[in-house]
Amino acid sequence: MYTVEYHANDDVRLVEKPVPEIGPGEVLVQLKACGICASDVMEWYMKPRAPLYPGHEPVGVIVQVGEGVDQFKPGQRVFIHHHVPCMTCHYCQRGAFSQCATFRATRLYPGGLAEYIRVPAPNVQLDVLPLPDSLSDEAATLVEPLACCVRGIDRANIRPGDSVLILGAGSNGLMLGQLAKMRGALRVMISDFIAYRREAALKAGIDVAFDPQDGSIEEQVAAVNDGLKPDVVIVTPSKISVMQQGIDLVAPGGTVLLFAPPPPADELSVKPNHLFFREITLRTSYSAGPYETRQALDLLRTGRIRSESIITHRFPLQEAPQAFHLVANPGEALKVVLHVD
Ligand SMILES: [Zn+2]
Ligand SMILES: [Zn+2]
Repeated sequence: MYTVEYHANDDVRLVEKPVPEIGPGEVLVQLKACGICASDVMEWYMKPRAPLYPGHEPVGVIVQVGEGVDQFKPGQRVFIHHHVPCMTCHYCQRGAFSQCATFRATRLYPGGLAEYIRVPAPNVQLDVLPLPDSLSDEAATLVEPLACCVRGIDRANIRPGDSVLILGAGSNGLMLGQLAKMRGALRVMISDFIAYRREAALKAGIDVAFDPQDGSIEEQVAAVNDGLKPDVVIVTPSKISVMQQGIDLVAPGGTVLLFAPPPPADELSVKPNHLFFREITLRTSYSAGPYETRQALDLLRTGRIRSESIITHRFPLQEAPQAFHLVANPGEALKVVLHVD
């Protein structure tokens, strides 16, 4: 079988590996489609760990079940989550699933971008979700990234009537914006340099889209937001300068959510005095757990989040190098999905 092997953004290979063997409690899934995440082209994380077998948004069909697996059978279409928590440790009991040691240790083999994927027993037990016939393979690849957005929105402290500003109108920005509206945000604004993305955001139901080249974001926000700063700012890029901008832009009493990780050595300078007297909350959101994947699947199943508003490019698995190149240099691309026919 073929699997995608990552060495660098401009060195993504298709390599042959034996079809994985499965043990008790495990299942073997034949890949149908898998999205590529911005984190899959985050070279500071990926390159030192190469060769890597990326892909964490896979959807496929169960072709074999291990001994003791009675809740699934061959032929079922499923979403498979790459990480699952233990549900019993200190962090799991507090809902901080991505901090659980089991969460960080569980992974798909060889990765989500392989023709056949071995799903470990803990993942089979907790976060393999059968898909309704009404949901396409492609749409279901959004379960994982949408789950991360659901968690992000939960952590962003949005209250009904809030105004929300999202920096970056990529696929995550668009999903976060739609979720913010569902949570009762009165006005959802987004900012991006690329016109196509701003238009896509407006089509997805976001109220206002700003071009940073049209002048200061603060003034553009004030002009449409009753002269007020946004109550919540969500920073989707991993750039320090944009995080800094988020802290400067948020209203007193508001929350800044950092949605993507910068390299470990990067530093963000904050003035605690500025945060203190304005009661500004700085939060982060990392990955998603089994509650969020179920919410995400339900949002997609019921059409409250429509994949057509998010997925813009499709490639066969064999063209993974071109697909990774596009995600690393997205321009007008939003979500890029690889297919196996
Ligand atoms: Zn991701
Ligand atoms: Zn745990």
